[in-house]
Amino acid sequence: MDNELRQSEKDAVARAAAFADDRLRPHAAAWERARALPPEVFESAADAGLTAAILPVEVGGDAVSMQCAARMAEVLAAADFAFAFALKVHANAANAIARRGTDEQRHRLLPEMIDGRRIGAFCLTEPGVGSDATAITCRAAPETGGWTVSGDKAWVTNGVIADVMSVYVQTDPEAGWRGIANLLIEGDFTGLSRGEPYSMIGGHAAGLCDVHFDGCRVPETNLLIPVGEGFKAAMAGINMARMFVAAICCGMLSDSLERALTYGAERMAFGRPILANQGLQWELADVATDLEASRRLTEHAARTLDAGEPGITECAHAKKFATGAALRGIAACMQAMGAAGLRDGEALGRHLAAAKMCEFLDGTTQIQNVVISRALLRPHGLDAS
Ligand SMILES: Cc1cc2nc3c(=O)[nH]c(=O)nc-3n(C[C@H](O)[C@H](O)[C@H](O)COP(=O)(O)OP(=O)(O)OC[C@H]3O[C@@H](n4cnc5c(N)ncnc54)[C@H](O)[C@@H]3O)c2cc1C
Repeated sequence: MDNELRQSEKDAVARAAAFADDRLRPHAAAWERARALPPEVFESAADAGLTAAILPVEVGGDAVSMQCAARMAEVLAAADFAFAFALKVHANAANAIARRGTDEQRHRLLPEMIDGRRIGAFCLTEPGVGSDATAITCRAAPETGGWTVSGDKAWVTNGVIADVMSVYVQTDPEAGWRGIANLLIEGDFTGLSRGEPYSMIGGHAAGLCDVHFDGCRVPETNLLIPVGEGFKAAMAGINMARMFVAAICCGMLSDSLERALTYGAERMAFGRPILANQGLQWELADVATDLEASRRLTEHAARTLDAGEPGITECAHAKKFATGAALRGIAACMQAMGAAGLRDGEALGRHLAAAKMCEFLDGTTQIQNVVISRALLRPHGLDAS
């Protein structure tokens, strides 16, 4: 895919790879143990040009193609899922402001987000609402000059540090998806509080927590997406997010394969390298085939988005296949390394937990099947259940 990139885009991928080697790989295991990213890592990422890569040129971004952004996500995730995903969420929040926000919102919020001094978050999921986003209950009641927001958001990536939250709210419970809008809620607004950081199977450094709004007053100037357009905007953005998750899975799988090959070429058993056993070679050959297929599906999805098409089915295929391939493949690489693959410093444990988490975020594997089934059935006059 790199052959299709402009020279400036190849340079951006190289910068991301250097950042991954210098600033992520040596620290990722310690950050996971500490259950937090150091705040300055976003500012270092900004210095390396990573926070503004997908933003339009008018706001100071590099406007790289989705194909380039996917490659950048892949090389970052090969070193550290938590940072790669946290950066994706941050950059997507900034991108939404750049493309949908008012001039006032762009001027006030974007410079510090691009510098990595204010971190973005995306708040759609709620304690009682996951896959069916039309059912959100976080309520925004209109008042003079703005809105009063009450309700809870769950699974907020960057939630522990974010101070520009793109929050989907229901303005009229009777209206269903037509009542959904999006408000920018800033970290210091009265009535906002955060829950304890989540304890999970992994991915802690991405700073997930619940966020609560209790009579939180939000000025009208912080309306990002008007009533009626919120749900469609969330679904449009989620296609790109799914493509990024697929790219992230490619990164974790390629790192795992490389580690298994390096280890297996040196590790001796019964007088020869363990990789001399054909059974093991074929297991890793299957991993390599799955990686190749994941990359091709991810590229195809990215190319479709670059062509200005919604890419709904393409992104669903890529996300479904790449997450499943990562889960199977990382486990196979771990098996090939024997007990050594379980060690903290080897990264496979972090990758494996993250691959499982990727099966949920931005729509579960089953929801990708709903999307794909819908495309299959539509020409036959049927809808997916
Ligand atoms: C690491 C991580 C980070 C996340 N970050 C964010 C974030 O920053 N912001 C945010 O808003 N959300 C975030 N999420 C939440 C994520 O988007 C949800 O987990 C996801 O939408 C699924 O919702 P749920 O987990 O509540 O599952 P549920 O919707 O409760 O589903 C439970 C199970 O039922 C299945 N199911 C549901 N409906 C159907 C159906 N129609 N057909 C077949 N099966 C079905 C699902 O596939 C799943 O297996 C994150 C999640 C994770 C794991």
